Amino acid sequence: MNLADYKNIWVFIETECGKPKNVGFELINAAKPLAQEKGCELIAVVIGKDIEGVAKDAICYGADSAIIVDGPEYEYYTTDAFAKALVALVEKYKPETLMIGATNNGRDLGPRVSCRLKTGLTADCTAIAIDEETGNVAWTRPTFGGNLMATIMCPENRPQMGTVRPAVFKKGAYDEAKTGEIVKEEITVAADEIRTTLIERVKEVAESINLEEAEIIVSGGRGVGSQENFQLLQDLADVLGATVGCSRAVVDAGWMPHAHQVGQSGKTVAPKLYFAIGISGAIQHVAGISGADTIVAINKDPDAPIFDVADYGIVGNLNEVVPALTEAFKAQ
Ligand code: FAD
Repeated sequence: MNLADYKNIWVFIETECGKPKNVGFELINAAKPLAQEKGCELIAVVIGKDIEGVAKDAICYGADSAIIVDGPEYEYYTTDAFAKALVALVEKYKPETLMIGATNNGRDLGPRVSCRLKTGLTADCTAIAIDEETGNVAWTRPTFGGNLMATIMCPENRPQMGTVRPAVFKKGAYDEAKTGEIVKEEITVAADEIRTTLIERVKEVAESINLEEAEIIVSGGRGVGSQENFQLLQDLADVLGATVGCSRAVVDAGWMPHAHQVGQSGKTVAPKLYFAIGISGAIQHVAGISGADTIVAINKDPDAPIFDVADYGIVGNLNEVVPALTEAFKAQ
């Protein structure tokens, strides 16, 4: 492999039913300084059905240009079709770096593509940079239960690949006037090459637990005391138009499904406002909320570690404080 043949940074923009996931645009913003440092192009790659508008959005968010593969076989994500298309694009254009959001689909697609291309992939990254000495991408991710951060490089193969957690980076500004080339590639996948079939989409769950995109999150911990008592948090969330999240202790107790869990082994979130209610503030929980603009903690223990990271703290019994807050917001 001649490494010098590989140029430019690619960001895969995931879509669902033609709508882009935020993480793709977050990665454009994160990769921009890297592309500037390397003096290379930043290219968005969109695979889907009717996704030309998404490619345009990616350019407005900062990509120099975009490559799209548009076809009916890409309407819904399937490992076979998407991996085939992405591998074909990489083999044709030879990008130096390929970044994918660490969503459920991205976590499936990334390893499949890297394996076919016989290159390395660093999964679930929380930071990316260019290594000054070698010029390789330095991918950073938590390891050993979040106790250490590992920085991993792929010096001998190309492209250098990584999946990056959603909501770790913020989207850049949207510049409606920005233009860039959109290259359309035809890659067809025969129906018998796709070994999975979508039987049904269940919408309701995804909408109510869209934590990664939520602007306000009302999160509860073991201190809430029971599944039934989460209604207090739901009432507050309803008044604020917020989404309910929780700590792992709550999931382990069976009070909430894992999809609501915030933290190292749950979701990384970046809301404008995060309420941590009856949550002690363990390092694994806090790891998931560092992107929040404002954190409000409610805890009866004044020494709870959550107060170390909170912007506002209320020391008190959540059974009294939360209904009082709900009433106060209702009155506004
Ligand atoms: P607790 O630590 O039990 O805290 C409960 C808090 O509620 C206490 O501070 C208490 O003072 C307060 N409280 C009790 N009653 C009231 C009341 N009436 N009013 C007000 N306050 C009250 N945890 C996560 O959350 N997310 C993760 O993704 C995650 N990943 C993990 C990964 C690994 C590898 C490991 C080892 C652990 C992980 N954990 C994770 C678990 C983490 O270490 C903690 O155990 C967990 O976050 C504790 O949850 P909690 O704060 O709800 O419960």
